[in-house]
Amino acid sequence: MSLNEIAEEIKACKLCPLHKSRKNAVPGEGSSKAKLMLIGEAPGVEEDEQGRPFVGRAGKILNDALRFANLDRKDLFITSVVKCRPPYNRVPNIEERKACISYLKRQIDVINPKVICLLGNIALKTFFKKASISKVRGKAIEMYDRIYFCTYHPAAILYNLSLKSVIYEDMRRLKELVEKFMVNDY
Ligand code: SF4
Repeated sequence: MSLNEIAEEIKACKLCPLHKSRKNAVPGEGSSKAKLMLIGEAPGVEEDEQGRPFVGRAGKILNDALRFANLDRKDLFITSVVKCRPPYNRVPNIEERKACISYLKRQIDVINPKVICLLGNIALKTFFKKASISKVRGKAIEMYDRIYFCTYHPAAILYNLSLKSVIYEDMRRLKELVEKFMVNDY
């Protein structure tokens, strides 16, 4: 199965009630050969309008942080745990996350990234149920020949400007991890 085929399934998906209020599902975008995958929480209003991930205010912050770390968005794959926008940007509930998770798993299987960056608490809890973001943020967790790395969701800066330098520094560390892992890969 290809990423495009998964994306077509997502666009037609009615597995949870979020399909009723979405304008566009947001499967994710980027390289199918990406060594680094970024996973956020769920689409926001602008993402829902455009059907693309991280294109709103949080997306601008993410782009700036990626640029700071010399990470090129076109080399990555960017998606979210839940592919349709929860109304009023609320946190996706457990049923919605359970309904949607098979798409993310299949995207990971196809891309097989060496490093997965989890943006925010919902993405972190999807992979590490008991982890606390304050304890694991900025650290590399190696599991099954893959590195997981967690930082705050870029939208957190909108509410707490002091997190900007933290996220920027984490992105710089993430870039180092990707380079290290790629060197070990050859
Ligand atoms: S959020 Fe996921 S499970 Fe729910 S309708 Fe959208 S694609 Fe389907």
